[in-house]
Amino acid sequence: MPEPRTRPPTNSLQTQPLTPSGSAPEQDGTLCPICREHAPSFVIPTPAADDEQRSGVPHRPLQEIHRQAVGDGDAQTELERFKLEMRRYAPVQKGIKGLPWRGSWLCGRCDEIVPGQFVYDEAADAIDLELACPTCGTYRERHQDALFVKQRPPAHHRQPGETYSGFPIRPILTELPRTVETLCPECSSLILGRYFVKDRAVWIEKTCPEHGYFRDKINSDVELYLRGTRSGFQDERGVFQPQVEGGSACPTDCGLCNQHHSTSCLAQIDLTNRCNLACPVCFASANQAGYVAEPDYEVVVEMLQTLRNQHPHPATAIQFTGGEPTLHPDFLRIIRQANELGFSHVQIATNGLLLADLDFAQRAAEAGLHTLYMQFDGLDDGLYQELRGRKLLERKLATIENCRRTGMKVCLVPTLVKGVNDNQVGPLLRFAAENADVISAIAYQPVAFTGRISREDLAQKRYTLGDLAHDLSAAAGADLHRDFFPLNHIAPLSRIMQTLDGKPKIRPSCHSDCAFGTYFFVTPEHELIPIPGVFDTMRLFSGLNELAARIERTRPDQRANWRDRISMLWTFLRSYRWRSADRRVNPLTFMHALRGMTNKRHGRGSAGRRTYRTLMAAGMHFMDRYNYDTERIRRCVILYSTVDGVYPFCTINGGPTYRPFIEKMLAQPIAEWRAAQADRTPTPTTAADNA
Ligand code: SF4
Ligand code: SF4
Ligand SMILES: [Zn+2]
Ligand SMILES: [Zn+2]
Repeated sequence: MPEPRTRPPTNSLQTQPLTPSGSAPEQDGTLCPICREHAPSFVIPTPAADDEQRSGVPHRPLQEIHRQAVGDGDAQTELERFKLEMRRYAPVQKGIKGLPWRGSWLCGRCDEIVPGQFVYDEAADAIDLELACPTCGTYRERHQDALFVKQRPPAHHRQPGETYSGFPIRPILTELPRTVETLCPECSSLILGRYFVKDRAVWIEKTCPEHGYFRDKINSDVELYLRGTRSGFQDERGVFQPQVEGGSACPTDCGLCNQHHSTSCLAQIDLTNRCNLACPVCFASANQAGYVAEPDYEVVVEMLQTLRNQHPHPATAIQFTGGEPTLHPDFLRIIRQANELGFSHVQIATNGLLLADLDFAQRAAEAGLHTLYMQFDGLDDGLYQELRGRKLLERKLATIENCRRTGMKVCLVPTLVKGVNDNQVGPLLRFAAENADVISAIAYQPVAFTGRISREDLAQKRYTLGDLAHDLSAAAGADLHRDFFPLNHIAPLSRIMQTLDGKPKIRPSCHSDCAFGTYFFVTPEHELIPIPGVFDTMRLFSGLNELAARIERTRPDQRANWRDRISMLWTFLRSYRWRSADRRVNPLTFMHALRGMTNKRHGRGSAGRRTYRTLMAAGMHFMDRYNYDTERIRRCVILYSTVDGVYPFCTINGGPTYRPFIEKMLAQPIAEWRAAQADRTPTPTTAADNA
């Protein structure tokens, strides 16, 4: 049934015609504090009667979405009703009135699951877990907490206190055990949980009042985990003028809302839910939905423009995904348009099958496709049969060869399931090193569990970022405690690079639990040299972070002058491990490599000449309802532009899993879609066609 959306605009801003750059005209008077441009202002337009999406939901121009977070009695769509349901317990939103929170917990003394509750110790302003163990008696365990306590936990000295919209930013906690705001794996409602250490691993446990007790492993190595939490710098402050205001119950206020801390590092747009494979481990469950959800070209352009309009850091890297994005009838036209809208990095998440055709690969490269984020589970064809339902290795290798010929790059994406293909971590790393001219990265992806799964299966198949670091270290001879870091560790690089050319740069400010790995230099002989073995990255990035802050504070245009550039060089020299470093790489090699990684004009250079190629080997551990943490999702940097606004990845594909609700806004019955395709006039797909 169509679900009319008639909620009137609840903000006082007026509709402003957007200029081509997305900025509102001068009289708006609302300046973004960072980029000093006029941020666009929005109002929900009254939809025209015939201005509907395929599902019948009124189409609202995406650039103009600006609304209040859905509140009680205010839900108008199926998605909004689901979001309100998720809040039926919401202990954190009630403040200390949400306590005590009762549940079952593992007794640290006798290893039994026992009753207990989170309580607030007013005198100490602290949260305790009070366990009532039949064997060990009643006792309290003090927790690190940023959800209820009034005092501000220790934070980086540059940590901002709030988002641009005034929502408090809690720092990433660096001690365990800690309280966590999480989701029930069954009903997705917001509940409280406990992060704790057992057998040198980090675990989460929680109890839903309706669905009982759950436990899952967060990281198999507590030392690595805690070092990760201490490797980051300050948080970001979210977007200026977010599309949703007044939110306080993350993740039920997406998006993007006033609570969100990060901006987009790699933005996503789903081009279709159709796929030419039917993989059992697919997030998108393409082909299983029974309908086609495929935005028209014009809607995709709106979604792209929405991302470019975000202040103070417009998205500059876009990934088209799905389903299989190459199946969209306007695929090449969309790639071209993304380049024209100013995205400097355009990539697709693909199974790579269609790009095994050289002609198609050539047309994609010519349209401006830079990188294939290609599903690649291993080098053994039996794995594809098991995980993807078909033998695919030969075609994937043909696609890599086509990328080599057409100048595109490949990031290999193995989905790792413990006991199924975790033995492929090393072989894939070696394969990537041997093909480092075309393969720039491996993004290992520990599988996320989106459906029901038994406790035994979960324990058997869960692969964590700690497991990945151990496997990579064994494969590459990397030092476990020196060479691995979370993605937010490199955020100062973006800050300093912004001072060089004055253009906003993407900020990898996700939570330290989200992405973890390392960078290698690859020698012409295909040997791997971990970059942290050559540079003390903590020293380097701390130095660059402080330097960037000084430039922002003291230079009127926030641009580095020649003195600052000398300071930068000095920071590189000081962080070089002069005594122990591999002398094949020096500070200048690194600076050339960095320039190549961030500037497509320079590219990654020729191996062995002034620079070595670099290879990123990292994992992003997407969340599911078992391991959900709202402190992570608030910092998410993988943001989807959708017809309902901007949503973080781990709200669309995991956790609350909003994907089906959003897809239904575009859904078309399969028969109807087929008929429409038969009538369709082919759209231009190449430069020649477009001309
Ligand atoms: S995930 Fe981000 S956008 Fe969504 S409710 Fe949380 S803070 Fe807001
Ligand atoms: S996609 Fe998930 S795992 Fe990745 S940054 Fe966002 S919240 Fe973290
Ligand atoms: Zn006990
Ligand atoms: Zn539940």
